[in-house]
Amino acid sequence: QHHSWLQGQSQVFSADMLHYSTDKLTLMAELRQAIEQQQLALYVQPQVDMQSREVLAGEVFVRWRHPSRGLMTPDSFLALAEETGVIYPLTQWVLTEAIATIAQLDKAGLEGKIAVNISSQDLLQDELIDSLDILFAKYNVKPQQLILEIKEGAFAARPSQSISMMQRLHKMGVELMLDDFGTGLSSLSHLRQLPVQSVKVDCSFINDLHKSDIHTAITGAIIDMARNLGLGVIAEGVEEKEVEQKLLRMGCNRGQGFLYSRPFELSGFAVWLKHWQQQQHTKLR
Ligand code: C2E
Ligand code: MG
Ligand code: MG
Ligand code: MG
Repeated sequence: QHHSWLQGQSQVFSADMLHYSTDKLTLMAELRQAIEQQQLALYVQPQVDMQSREVLAGEVFVRWRHPSRGLMTPDSFLALAEETGVIYPLTQWVLTEAIATIAQLDKAGLEGKIAVNISSQDLLQDELIDSLDILFAKYNVKPQQLILEIKEGAFAARPSQSISMMQRLHKMGVELMLDDFGTGLSSLSHLRQLPVQSVKVDCSFINDLHKSDIHTAITGAIIDMARNLGLGVIAEGVEEKEVEQKLLRMGCNRGQGFLYSRPFELSGFAVWLKHWQQQQHTKLR
């Protein structure tokens, strides 16, 4: 059932909202309509193998083309979406677009993965499993082509329920990645109990990796730990060539950041991929 997530938003007004500014209340009402009015858009950023130069996946980020405020990034509306339950239909929309895109890329001979960010609250939504099953079948996409990025700490509020959802997702064949790793409070030993296949080192450690001894130590510890636990590791926020080279020396091959590309409109991904392949081919010759 496609609209089950919309029906899930029974909590429309809470006591907290009494203290909201008019501005916030307006934005909240507008956000509810943004999906239907097709104001949401997806941007994509490639995740690459820094050694082989292969593109491993594209991570999608939601944007809101607000009629008067212009293009808005998630920091200005995601918390609001989470507070009001709009996050469920939002995630559902993102997943639909992402899986449809995987199918389109397959058809264009550009088989690959798409990574989607999900919120802690999405993990508490039982319908998530069914709706993914439906989408995979509808678009003839393999669950292995979808990566779900979950922030470290996203399960802190309801650990057992969240982890059991992650187990179900993992059983389906979806790749689970722990996002912003290193910033939260979850201990390294806790990680062993989570059904995740990879961790993403937070950009705050990566941005200045070539200049910071502390961030080098932390990143090194995460890479070693991931290897010892048999997990994949990716670095986000790779902006400089020196950082890339250092990560490769430290044993991390997967990276993402402005060095390769800023996020751009998802509709341009196929063209970008073809251009990238051509470029690498030319460099090799
Ligand atoms: P994230 O998943 O950790 O994504 C990385 C953020 O860093 C993105 O910001 C991206 O545009 C930006 N970024 C990428 N490369 C670089 C770089 O080299 N340097 C720097 N300084 N920044 C870089 P964005 O798009 O504003 O997204 C912010 C956060 O919002 C994301 O962090 C993610 O947690 C959340 N988010 C984005 N899209 C969605 C979505 O569709 N659903 C949910 N639930 N959350 C989303
Ligand atoms: Mg992410
Ligand atoms: Mg991150
Ligand atoms: Mg982040």
